[in-house]
Amino acid sequence: MNPQGILVVALNQRGQASPATWELLGAGRALADAAKQPLFAVLPGGTAEQARELVERGADRVLWTAHPSLKEFNDEMHTQAVCAAAQQLSPARILLPGSVAGRSLACRLAVKLQAGLATDVSEFSPSGMVKRGAFGGNLTAEVEFKSPIQVMTVQAMAFPPAARQAGRAGEAAELAFAPAAARTEVISFSAEEAGEIDLGGAERIVSGGRGVGGPDGFKAVRDLAHALGAAVGASRAAVDSGWIPYRHQVGLTGRTVRPKLYVACGISGQIQHLAGMSNAANIVAINTDPECPMMQQATISVAADIFEFIPLVVAEIKKRKGVPVAA
Ligand SMILES: Cc1cc2nc3c(=O)[nH]c(=O)nc-3n(C[C@H](O)[C@H](O)[C@H](O)COP(=O)(O)OP(=O)(O)OC[C@H]3O[C@@H](n4cnc5c(N)ncnc54)[C@H](O)[C@@H]3O)c2cc1C
Repeated sequence: MNPQGILVVALNQRGQASPATWELLGAGRALADAAKQPLFAVLPGGTAEQARELVERGADRVLWTAHPSLKEFNDEMHTQAVCAAAQQLSPARILLPGSVAGRSLACRLAVKLQAGLATDVSEFSPSGMVKRGAFGGNLTAEVEFKSPIQVMTVQAMAFPPAARQAGRAGEAAELAFAPAAARTEVISFSAEEAGEIDLGGAERIVSGGRGVGGPDGFKAVRDLAHALGAAVGASRAAVDSGWIPYRHQVGLTGRTVRPKLYVACGISGQIQHLAGMSNAANIVAINTDPECPMMQQATISVAADIFEFIPLVVAEIKKRKGVPVAA
């Protein structure tokens, strides 16, 4: 059978659907409509109820399995589950999230299915070519597949999420899955610090760069984030210096974000950082160098020392919220 249709790989995070899945369904639905082909989804480690939601968000046919080996993400087991679905559905294109798990799975799938692979895809063209950032975001590469099956990871936030249409027609069935034993086992999971807002879906983000001067400098950034109800981000320079953990990094080799408000504190705005946040609706840059790229890119540029400016803003926010301000 000739491969046909688009298969979205829906990866759960600790039993919860990932927002990236809705973006994949949005992108997949548009592709399927343009090619007049079906949109499939496979849900490893999910439930019938979650499969129903995938239908309501655009999938025509969903295969799900709640097999216990898929409770935690395991490259080997998830590869087996997606391959089982691919055998049954015979899709031409397989879309995965551009997350660590998605990337890890994509390369295994490409080998198993003898498929072509493109990572971090940000655009599809009707001709079948895809576009992806290359060389640190300085160039856009156009990729043409020579293989009948194409595996792609899709850049986070590059496509709008599919909306839910209650009662939408489609089929959800349990995947027949009898996996071979895994050679690896997930022993434990450590959650991120409690109380932190996750960068991925945050509407407001306050990020610090080398300009914060050291780990203690992030106190000002956290104070502002707390006052605004925002997540804390960072540049790679701050992360590489060991001032803040990697999970906060925004940019090409960090997270891609699309908040309503992005406050860049002491971040110069190099292309690799901009690659992760330039789609923010509003950017506020606070920097002592008015000429730096972030100040040029920002909606509002504040030429100031963050250690002088941020406490004033935090005090003003607290005053307006009626929170007592320390003298
Ligand atoms: C392959 C590759 C991938 C990369 N991926 C990423 C990535 O994912 N994310 C990322 O961020 N970078 C990434 N980088 C690194 C990137 O090129 C820059 O080096 C980095 O973004 C710089 O971080 P920064 O803006 O914090 O530091 P700098 O460029 O050193 O800027 C510090 C800024 O702070 C300002 N400043 C200093 N003191 C103060 C003060 N008191 N108040 C206000 N402003 C002050 C300065 O004027 C300056 O503009 C990558 C690089 C490569 C080659």
